[in-house]
Amino acid sequence: MSQTGRCLCGSVSFELLGDVIATAVCHCDHCQRQSGGAFSVNLVVHESQLAVTGDLAVYEERGERGDDVYVLRKFCGSCGSPIVSALAKTEGIVAVKAGVLDDKSAVSPTVEAWCEHKQPWVDLGEMAVSMDRE
Ligand SMILES: [Zn+2]
Ligand SMILES: [Zn+2]
Repeated sequence: MSQTGRCLCGSVSFELLGDVIATAVCHCDHCQRQSGGAFSVNLVVHESQLAVTGDLAVYEERGERGDDVYVLRKFCGSCGSPIVSALAKTEGIVAVKAGVLDDKSAVSPTVEAWCEHKQPWVDLGEMAVSMDRE
């Protein structure tokens, strides 16, 4: 199976090969701020499954106390669309943002994270797994 996607302006596009490991909704404050929405939807895949065309800008996200970089948030430098995040702790695993897929109709979230930041007006129904905190 192969899926394609692109940023809003089209300077960055990608192809995603094979099945996703998981589809995770993240309600954390940082995902809310980066996405401009109430949560992010992430296709968790091996980095080797993703082929990106175009240049990605990178924001190195650190812990609240200025600790080590723990997420590399990669986005289009011209239009700002978030494309993929890489967790520093889990090398080789990345989270592709579902909203930049060309066909989003088959996205099916199975995991929810950071539910304590979930907004009271968000109702996504029952998920298979709900993680309170990492
Ligand atoms: Zn763009
Ligand atoms: Zn998040």
